[in-house]
This record gives sequence, C-alpha cells and structure tokens, in this order.
Amino acid sequence: MDSIAAVRSRDALAFSVLDSEVRLAILDSLYDRTVASGPLAGNAAYSTIKADVGVEDSGRFSYHLDKLTDRFVTKTETGYRLAEPGREVVRLRRTGVLTEDRTVEAEPVDGECYRCGADIQAFYRRGYLVTQCQECIGLIDHELVLDGTLASLAYPPSGVSGIDIGTAFERSHLRAVHTFRAMADGFCPNCGHDVTITLPPAEGEDPGDDGYGFRHVDHDGMVRFACDRCGRRHITHPLYATDDREPMAGFFTRNGIDPGWDRNATVMSWPVTVEGTEFVFETPDGDRFRVDDGLDVRRD
Ligand SMILES: [Zn+2]
Ligand SMILES: [Zn+2]
Repeated sequence: MDSIAAVRSRDALAFSVLDSEVRLAILDSLYDRTVASGPLAGNAAYSTIKADVGVEDSGRFSYHLDKLTDRFVTKTETGYRLAEPGREVVRLRRTGVLTEDRTVEAEPVDGECYRCGADIQAFYRRGYLVTQCQECIGLIDHELVLDGTLASLAYPPSGVSGIDIGTAFERSHLRAVHTFRAMADGFCPNCGHDVTITLPPAEGEDPGDDGYGFRHVDHDGMVRFACDRCGRRHITHPLYATDDREPMAGFFTRNGIDPGWDRNATVMSWPVTVEGTEFVFETPDGDRFRVDDGLDVRRD
C-alpha cells in the first residue's frame, strides 16, 4: 500500500492541475456537452470546447487541455470526453461546498419536537441544516450547537439554493437515512470501506474524552457509525437506521409513518431500556423492539 506521504503528494499534484479558470471552464464545457446530455453521450470536438471556453489563442488553449488529459479528460479518436475524476470535480463544485457560505434564516417546518411536542423550525448555517425546537433544550448539548437543536445534518449549499427551507428540511432527512442504512449494513456510502458500529459505553468503560460523542447527545438509545477510512461519523437512532429492514419496515408501513423526519421523530420519542449490550424500545401501543450490538432488531 502507498504511504500517506506518497498519496498526499499525488493529491497535491492533482489539485495543482485544477488551479486554472480555463481548465475548470474546459471541464464545465465537457460536462455540459457529454455528461449532462445523457449517460452515453458522444465526444465533444476540440473546436466546440474551445468556442465554449472562449480562448482565442490555440496554443494557450491546447496547453490547458493537455494538462487535464489522461487524469480528468480522455482523448478519443474524434474528440474529448470527461473521465470520472473530471466528472467528480464538476459535481463537487456544483454543490457549492468548497466556496459558498450560505445562510438561511429559521422558518417553521412541518413536524413536531419528539421531546416536547412543540412546533419545530429549520435553518441553514455553515454547511449544516439544523432542526430546532423553540420550547425545549433539544437533543444535542455542545458549545457549537444552539439550544433546542434536535438534528444537525451536513448538507450542501446547493440544497438550499433556489429550494425553500421546508423542502430542504425534508430532503436532508431523507438523504441522511440512506447514509445511515448503508452504515447499519456495515459499509460507508462515501468511500466503500468498513464501518465500526458502537453503542454507548458501559459503566466503567473508558471511551475517551467525548464518550465516543455520546456525551453530547441526550438520549440513551443511540448508535454511532464511524468509517474506518474516510472518517465519516454519525450518531443516530438504531431503529431509524434499520427502517428499511424487518421488523421495522413493516411496522412503519402498517402505521403510515413516512420515511424522513416523521420516522426519526417517532422512534426518538420511544422510551428505551438498556439491558447489557442490548436496547429495548417500547412504542405507545406496547410493542417492544430489541436491538443487539450488531443492529439485529427483533420483536420482543
Ligand atoms: Zn421540544
Ligand atoms: Zn468512508
């Protein structure tokens, strides 16, 4: 396996190749001509890309196109295509995560607080979509988090650009549950590596200063996912992360509890008992769901 220093050196070289507005314009042109138009769209001709980019000097244009070719752009017999790394660069830029610092003020959204039943609101700040209760202290106790915070999800600025905060609120929770489901199945949807699943530390166990992060969350029945490679981490409810499997899938369908915020809020409101390394959750109707430390769920 390559050393961290060798990988870092190659990454630095790749970023340096992108350090040019002309080259980014070439990637944009190729994306619009050969990707946005359909999955198996053809090549773009040299003259077409050159006209899109608006560089008159052929020598200068060719210099920049050559720098991109092989890693980000593929040359074919009739023109050029975007290689997958080039597509990834365009997609990443279009999410706005690299440069946009967008803020959306809080507005009421459709749902209620799973702790106190009050109305909730959502706002967007510094790359996070935050769901907040105005009546109670909320779930997360951390100096960087406002009182009343019930959920705080990393979400790209593009998701609140031209899209109202109520829609973004729903979509951010639907998007998050896809991530949680994959991690509950043991792999990271971001990088494809293994995920370590951790339940809260038992009495006497030494989990480090932040208690694996559980110390900041005021709920006894949560699970933590941590990717072993890219470091993606989440703390969420185990019955929410397994909402697409039985017995939870059938339960939610029968009771008409939609995926996303409603489902999350429903399970978050259920009382939990910790029995050794297992959780037992009880619904208001007296159903009991037992979860073990491998996230197997069974009806008790
Ligand atoms: Zn509340
Ligand atoms: Zn990962």
